[in-house]
Amino acid sequence: MTGHHCWGYGEDDGPSEWHRYFPIAQGNRQSPINIIANQAVFNPSLNPLVLSYDHCTSINISNNGHSVMVEFDDLDNQTVISGGPLNDSYRLKQFHFHWGTHGQGSEHTVDGKSYPCELHLVHWNARAYPTFEEAAAASDGLAVIGIFLDTGGQHPGLSRLTDALYMVKFKGTKAQFDNFNPKCLLPSSLEYWTYPGSLTTPPLNESVIWIVLKEPIKVSEKQMDRFRKTLLFSGEEEDERIQMVNNFRPPQPLNGRKVQASFKG
Ligand SMILES: [Zn+2]
Repeated sequence: MTGHHCWGYGEDDGPSEWHRYFPIAQGNRQSPINIIANQAVFNPSLNPLVLSYDHCTSINISNNGHSVMVEFDDLDNQTVISGGPLNDSYRLKQFHFHWGTHGQGSEHTVDGKSYPCELHLVHWNARAYPTFEEAAAASDGLAVIGIFLDTGGQHPGLSRLTDALYMVKFKGTKAQFDNFNPKCLLPSSLEYWTYPGSLTTPPLNESVIWIVLKEPIKVSEKQMDRFRKTLLFSGEEEDERIQMVNNFRPPQPLNGRKVQASFKG
């Protein structure tokens, strides 16, 4: 690694090295995890998840060198989630993806099974904390919904996004991306597992209430290939062009945490 905050997914700067600059990587509340379905505890008092995504408040799409991200206007409570394990409403800040090759790519796994891709919808508690950064430093500041992407037929909702990827091929690029409603990326069932965890990228803050949906959405292999083949980890000025792929952290120790399920068996 060359600088303090230089991290990635390569041999020299990948997840197994992150602890050198971010010691919390070896903390006891890290994410992702492998969810063992029959060890998850059904909690009948868990409320259904409520996603109030009626307004299309997306702003831009960008390549941050680690993923492709869509950011939202989070100045007020136009786009929020509530219910589920949450005691407050949490505002949508951004969503991004993790993906790989050969059936791998998701961060969470279920009974050891990986999916080709995982979507993360990142929300923060704006009632309890004045800024996203302050929420990200608190134990209950963030709520992230994880949605698995599995291979199947073409996903119409994802096409507008995959069609925009060419605009953010290089690290550090950004393009306008308004009127995108992430509602179209939700599966039909909102049954979920939930557990206390962390960001899965540095700084790896242990500030996330994780909500991982059981039902994957289906996208075509061609759509997955658009991610793998369009985006680069590298910037436009860099000589070496490195395809953005395998940007996922492997499962971390559970350390006695309990995974709760909103559904039975
Ligand atoms: Zn993520």
